[in-house]
Amino acid sequence: MEENKSHISYDNPYADTMNMKFVRKLPIPRDVKQEYPVPDALREVRSRNVRQIRDVLNGKSDKLLMIIGPCSADREDAVLEYLSRLRTVQDQTADKLVIVPRIYTNKPRTTGDGYKGMLHQPDPTGRPDVFRGILMIRDLHMRALTETGFSCADEMLYPENHRYLDDLLGYVAVGARSVENQGHRLTASGLDVPVGMKNPTSGDFSVMLNAITAAQHRHTFIYRGWEVESQGNPYAHAILRGYVNKHSQPLPNYHYEDLVRMADMYAAKDVTNRAVIIDTNHSNSGKQYLQQSRIAKEVMTQRRLNPEIRSLVKGFITESYLVDGCQKPEAAAVYGQSITDPCLGWEKTERLLFELAEMV
Ligand code: PEP
Ligand code: MN
Repeated sequence: MEENKSHISYDNPYADTMNMKFVRKLPIPRDVKQEYPVPDALREVRSRNVRQIRDVLNGKSDKLLMIIGPCSADREDAVLEYLSRLRTVQDQTADKLVIVPRIYTNKPRTTGDGYKGMLHQPDPTGRPDVFRGILMIRDLHMRALTETGFSCADEMLYPENHRYLDDLLGYVAVGARSVENQGHRLTASGLDVPVGMKNPTSGDFSVMLNAITAAQHRHTFIYRGWEVESQGNPYAHAILRGYVNKHSQPLPNYHYEDLVRMADMYAAKDVTNRAVIIDTNHSNSGKQYLQQSRIAKEVMTQRRLNPEIRSLVKGFITESYLVDGCQKPEAAAVYGQSITDPCLGWEKTERLLFELAEMV
């Protein structure tokens, strides 16, 4: 796609009253989609994928939802290799697991600094280039669907960007730092895919439950310069990711008592398709990424002990990549190792997926 140079303007009047340069006008989602459309056959694959995910969340299917993949999708080759390995495991566990790969192209940063994901930095060591980033994230999600048949998960960090990918994604997460934001909640109410609402970093369940309620309702609001009416999203649900206390210590919220409290609070809300996904990393592991396998298996044991927990907890979000651990983005030399949060490497991932399939 050609850059629209006629729109580039360094004397944009808005720039006079703001401390930013309007670098260039970006292509709108419709134009990008016209140039890179999803073929009809793949639209059907996506519909089937989304239906499978919905059926886990609404209880029609007893399979376990495994949203799994690197913290950030930093490079196309390694991510696609990872996905092709996941495809093999999915085919072997199809009666037990619904696997949804994480292709996270936007990263929220605790202080705002650091690698912001492929959308901003298509080359993690290079300068930001959002124009190229838009094309790259669409290409990556498109290749994932074309080459491996997966409709993947991404985080909706910037709601207005969702339309660059809305015809490709199978699942959307609203992150811990965004879940209290009205724009995220209202946009979630207008998505046709399941949206997982994370508990905020403070750990307050009611913030997350309010986000689920808001997303399940209809709203009128402004979206991409339009007045829009959303239908409400009956598949908005909860993700428990652990939390941080006032001493900045990470604390888990996947234990039995947390889940029972969650079930009680959820039951008191007038929402449908109540479902909880456990994030095995982040504050639940305290980023001790190797603990992820134990955490997932512990939760599976709790599901066995308590039927209410079994029907509520539908799956996991796990951070996993080709190589264990993480490396600094500036010196990313190891192919398939995370440049953001530390991830389980492939061998441990494969073992975990087969073990979980056994425990379903
Ligand atoms: C993530 O999934 O990588 C992430 C940033 O999660 P959270 O919003 O829970 O911190
Ligand atoms: Mn992460």
